[in-house]
Amino acid sequence: MTLSDRVAVVTGAGRGIGRAIALKLAGAGAAVVVNDVDEVGASETVAIISSAGGRAAAILADISQSVEATRLVEEAVSSFGSVDVLVNNAGITRDGLMLRMSDDDWDRVLNINLRGAFFCTRAALKYMVRRRWGRIVNISSVIGRIGNPGQANYASAKAGLIGLTKSVAREVASRSITANAIAPGFIDTAMTQRLGDALKQDILKQIPAGCFGSAEDVANAVAFFASPESAYITGQVLNVDGGMVMV
Ligand code: NAP
Repeated sequence: MTLSDRVAVVTGAGRGIGRAIALKLAGAGAAVVVNDVDEVGASETVAIISSAGGRAAAILADISQSVEATRLVEEAVSSFGSVDVLVNNAGITRDGLMLRMSDDDWDRVLNINLRGAFFCTRAALKYMVRRRWGRIVNISSVIGRIGNPGQANYASAKAGLIGLTKSVAREVASRSITANAIAPGFIDTAMTQRLGDALKQDILKQIPAGCFGSAEDVANAVAFFASPESAYITGQVLNVDGGMVMV
């Protein structure tokens, strides 16, 4: 699978899954725009890619803001000439039971995980449609498929991302643009490292593979959806979860 001459934008690529995706796509030959709100993390990701001989640039932007998301895509096009692959990865959690969930915790999670993906996709599609080629990969979650107590906001955003993926896939399939979602299970990153040990042990019991996944496990699936080889696959959701959810 090669992505030479392709330009990829990865949101939230300053660490964790986003960084692993950026490294993987750069390794496949893509020029990578590393987006994040964290300047240090984004610069580190760019430095790792550059030292391995790849091409990358950091663009700081809060993708939950329409103007910022549009600027991200416009600057990516100015820097590298196009946007061929968009990976909507930036996401946060703000957990709490429904009865106690604040308006702010609901809004922040929906704004970053779902509205941000909408803003970036709308901005990037303009260029993909013109070039009649594109790959959109949305990082959802198994929680968006099965729900989770304490994560009504996150589950709603991630389920919404699946609806967004399928609708976009139908709209642009005839232009050789695909849109697919990946639903990771529990992946060892900063997002899950803050879970308590007892909860982690409970979660492990639900994973047939018997371990958490790595960010690279997710990146490998993204690389396939980003590649020319996945041309006839669109509107799909792929679980990367060690067998946790088999739907
Ligand atoms: P992470 O380690 O918390 O990394 C997320 C990155 O996104 C951080 O660098 C964060 O920056 C950045 N970010 C947050 N808000 C942003 C915004 N508005 N604009 C641009 N960047 C922003 O998370 P992760 O575990 O790698 O997760 C990546 C994606 O996978 C998320 O969508 C997550 O929901 C999804 N996912 C993760 C798991 C898992 O088990 N880890 C499972 C299923 C799905 P700051 O922290 O500096 O704000």
